[in-house]
Amino acid sequence: MNALEEILGKVEKYGARLVAVSKTKPNNAILEIYNQGHKIFGENRVQELVEKQASMPDDIEWHMIGHLQSKKVKQIASFVHMIHAVDSPKLLKEIDKRAAQHERIIPVLLQFHIAKESTKYGFSQDEVEALLRSEEFKTFENAKIVGVMGMATFTDDMDQVRSEFKSLKSIFDHLKTNYFTNNEDFKEISMGMSGDYTIALEEGSTIVRVGSLIFGKR
Ligand SMILES: *Cc1c(COP(=O)(O)O)cnc(C)c1O
Repeated sequence: MNALEEILGKVEKYGARLVAVSKTKPNNAILEIYNQGHKIFGENRVQELVEKQASMPDDIEWHMIGHLQSKKVKQIASFVHMIHAVDSPKLLKEIDKRAAQHERIIPVLLQFHIAKESTKYGFSQDEVEALLRSEEFKTFENAKIVGVMGMATFTDDMDQVRSEFKSLKSIFDHLKTNYFTNNEDFKEISMGMSGDYTIALEEGSTIVRVGSLIFGKR
């Protein structure tokens, strides 16, 4: 069994999905995975994502998983399948605008700051609740919030990682109960990478983003 099959086996056991993170990897490496039947890939830089999308098979679902500047949304709005790291009202508004121009609905995830490190991007729970209660939010029709995303602290302390994943799951549950009760689309928790995806699955992840375990070290 190769790495992809092994990861897919675990992911499917939990009814979750795998985004194969192909950042920095050449097209031939991506095609090798694609030819095994996997069609969901993630990139974290706009330029690289645009170039790969243009030169790779059309039925690939491209996920933008990295920090995204508002001014770059227009470059990916015509094709991106999901945007994982929405971390400001301004970015959400821009995605809504650009998606509308392409007559598309773009599913997005709200990124939460769950790690101890101060370098990681993301909303606090208060910021998101203010956004969800705002009048402006109710006018967004083309950026569709389908869940939450987070990155755990980069550490060997797996108890800490687990507790950070638990905190994202509880934020999800709170938002689901209070703001998305009858909204079946709000169901995604994007958490877990090469070093911690099995813990993430145990803690309720629905989308894991795994790169180096599949493609090798970057
Ligand atoms: C690079 C990256 C990943 C994958 O990291 P690996 O450790 O290689 O699995 C997941 N999520 C985000 C946001 C990334 O930038």
